[in-house]
Amino acid sequence: MSDAAVDRLPPAARFCARALAAGMAPADLARVLRADDTTIAKHLRVGLAAIGAPPPPPGATETALLAAVEPLVAAARRPPGRTPSTTCLSDDVSAALAAGALDGPLLLAEAEHVADCPACLERIASFTVTEAPAPVAIAPRRGLDVVVTIVCALVVAVLLVWFALRWG
Ligand SMILES: [Zn+2]
Repeated sequence: MSDAAVDRLPPAARFCARALAAGMAPADLARVLRADDTTIAKHLRVGLAAIGAPPPPPGATETALLAAVEPLVAAARRPPGRTPSTTCLSDDVSAALAAGALDGPLLLAEAEHVADCPACLERIASFTVTEAPAPVAIAPRRGLDVVVTIVCALVVAVLLVWFALRWG
C-alpha cells in the first residue's frame, strides 16, 4: 500500500474515491458519472484492490459497501499528489457536472480534474448536497395559487358589481 495508490487509479475510480472522501454519497457518484450502482461499485473495487484492502462482499448493501470502502476513503482524504493538467471548471461546467449533465470525453476529463483538484471537488460536493431537495418544484405552485386566488377574487367582485348594477 502506497500513499500514491489513489493517484495511480484510473480517472473514474480516482474520482469515486476522492468524491466519497469529500462527503458525496454513492448516489451522487452515479448521477455525476452517469453510471449505475454496479459500475460505481466496480470502480470502488478497483480502488480497494489498488490499496490492498479486501473487496466488499458480493451483493453488498450500500451500508456494507461504504463500510468496506472506508480504507480507500481514508487513503483518498490525503491531498492529491497529481497536479491537474486542465484548467479549473467554470461555474457552469461545475453545475452541469454535479447535475449529471455532462457526457463522453468531456465528462471523463472534468471528473479527472475534479479528482485531482481539491477546490473543484469541494465545489462539486457542495452542489450535490444543496441540489437534492425540491423547493424549486414547490415555488411555481405557490405562485400559481396566488394567481388563482386573485382571479377568483376578481370574478367574485365583478359578479357582485354586476348584480348590484342590475338589481340595485
Ligand atoms: Zn480545479
